[in-house]
Amino acid sequence: MHHFHYRDNRMFCEDVPVPEIAKNVGTPFYLYSHATLRHHFLVFQEAFEGVPHLICFSAKSNSNLAVLRLFGSLGGGLDIVSGGELFRGLQAGIPPDRIVYSGVGKREDEIEYALQSGILMFNIESHQELELINRCGTRLKKKAPIALRVNPDVDPKTHPYISTGLKREKFGLGMESATEVYKSAAAFPHVEVVGISCHIGSQVTEIAPFVDALHRVKELIATLETFGISISYLDIGGGLGITYDRESPPHPNEYGRAISEALGDSAFTLILEPGRVIVGNAGILVTRVLYTKKGETKDFVIVDAAMNDLVRPSLYDAYHAIEPVVRDQRETIRADVVGPICESGDFLAKDRDTPRVEAGDLLAVMSAGAYGFTMSSNYNSRPRVPEVMVKEDQFYVVRARESYEDLIKGESIPAFL
Ligand SMILES: *Cc1c(COP(=O)(O)O)cnc(C)c1O
Repeated sequence: MHHFHYRDNRMFCEDVPVPEIAKNVGTPFYLYSHATLRHHFLVFQEAFEGVPHLICFSAKSNSNLAVLRLFGSLGGGLDIVSGGELFRGLQAGIPPDRIVYSGVGKREDEIEYALQSGILMFNIESHQELELINRCGTRLKKKAPIALRVNPDVDPKTHPYISTGLKREKFGLGMESATEVYKSAAAFPHVEVVGISCHIGSQVTEIAPFVDALHRVKELIATLETFGISISYLDIGGGLGITYDRESPPHPNEYGRAISEALGDSAFTLILEPGRVIVGNAGILVTRVLYTKKGETKDFVIVDAAMNDLVRPSLYDAYHAIEPVVRDQRETIRADVVGPICESGDFLAKDRDTPRVEAGDLLAVMSAGAYGFTMSSNYNSRPRVPEVMVKEDQFYVVRARESYEDLIKGESIPAFL
């Protein structure tokens, strides 16, 4: 469900025509629908009604301040993976006691920042990290609330780059070593064991891997109890997939029901870290056709957005539907939709059946709300594009387009040159 739709063959976001926004802010730009973001968050929230829970939205999927503020205002917390994301979360007004800190490589300064901010818990991924957190706690005279991230070794059947819960991956602690690390944690004076966490991967389109992981984590919790270690927060991560093309992922209700059932009667507070499922289909990337070109073997549509703006097709071979912003009767051609960057890997779509577009036409790259802007870069010295949020019949630029001056901010030329 989303609020991008056609009226008289023109694409609207809620009640605003997309071409009108393009005229105002130029292209390319990311466009988010407030009603869609809100709806997705509330649907996810309702899926866990009856179970004590906290939704810690995954900041890395979309970290715009306006987006974070919206989820915070709906009762959400944040799952962060860096000091920068903590800064964003606090700037957006997310209460620190609703923030969990994940990630395999937290730096000492980041740990101290989080400890001083009073976050809910650190999801720890190694014994060395545990030792460092205990040292930071000692120095700051604080007790760090921690969970261990365990690796339940289930196959989420997703792209290898976004699979994180198998033994071969860098994430988490193996189930066997986790017990030992927990025992060690319980003995450290400046950490307090409060939880357990896992995250098996992203764009997972089946329920079974989540339920398997939860069962394994519950077994571990039972083992820990025999050693007198008790858990208050059970964090099952994020990873629920969305429809980009023909995938049919479970509805959040179905996911919620399966997880609640697997949880059974327990006193834990469930923590969820959804990202993509909340924001993915709530955003699009709007781009303009610059040129069309007939190659020797196929057609090319050259647009003004590129892999630096949306890297998912290049990085994961990901599919994004591409729709004309203005629909009319055109014949269909098969073409590659490519950007201006000097890399053959710079494409938004390959061998795609699309209407025969012309220079100047607007295209909407669909399902670009997650891992879109957040993964963008300045490669080829391209200023990063604006982010726009629509609410009903108004639009708001929630991040301005970067300028050429922004591109060289912080650079300097030494005097000897
Ligand atoms: C990336 C990530 C998430 C969010 O994943 P989605 O697939 O976007 O839901 C949640 N938790 C952790 C630890 C992550 O690394």
